[in-house]
Amino acid sequence: MALTVETIPQGPVQANTHILTDTATGKIAVVDAGDCTDALKDRLNGKSVEYILLTHGHFDHILGVAALKALTGAEICIHAADADCLLDEEKSLCSWECAGQQTPIQADRLLHDGDKIVLGESVLHVLHTPGHTKGGVCYADYENRILLTGDTLFCLTAGRTDFPGGSDEELLASLIRLRNLDGDFTVYTGHNRATTLEFERTRNRYMRRIGR
Ligand SMILES: [Zn+2]
Ligand SMILES: [Zn+2]
Repeated sequence: MALTVETIPQGPVQANTHILTDTATGKIAVVDAGDCTDALKDRLNGKSVEYILLTHGHFDHILGVAALKALTGAEICIHAADADCLLDEEKSLCSWECAGQQTPIQADRLLHDGDKIVLGESVLHVLHTPGHTKGGVCYADYENRILLTGDTLFCLTAGRTDFPGGSDEELLASLIRLRNLDGDFTVYTGHNRATTLEFERTRNRYMRRIGR
């Protein structure tokens, strides 16, 4: 079994949308949707999209969710602590950058730490990693060694903690948790390019500061 990942930057600040495909069944999960562009629609055309998995509730990751839901009927999953962002553009920070552009939509499933999301023959584990937001999560596929980190961990840096709900202490604890996962992972981040966990363990200034 395998899980493939294709990344399309979308939306007002080009946050990454990741298309996860379980190759055994062809079933798809879309991780974050800052928009629902033709590029995304083309790739999903005729496919079975089971989930819209959100790493957190900031506008740059969710502005396309309502359109993507209408297109696919997929189950919208977000951590309970960030679920209000889908309904309230103050909470998603949309009102700061692009007031009036967010279509409110209800989550279908509220996630908690330790939840499992079954996509065909693949399994994604939910890791609650607050710090950037209260309800930030990472999704880990231990079998296929894939980790999706949203705005918690980036290549050579980490997420901001100065927005409402952010916390330096929580972000640090979340980074320690990620660092302490067994083995290596390909890491797909919320912005910019992908990396690996082992590269970040040795080069990322936040992770280096934590020590081994
Ligand atoms: Zn964010
Ligand atoms: Zn972001």
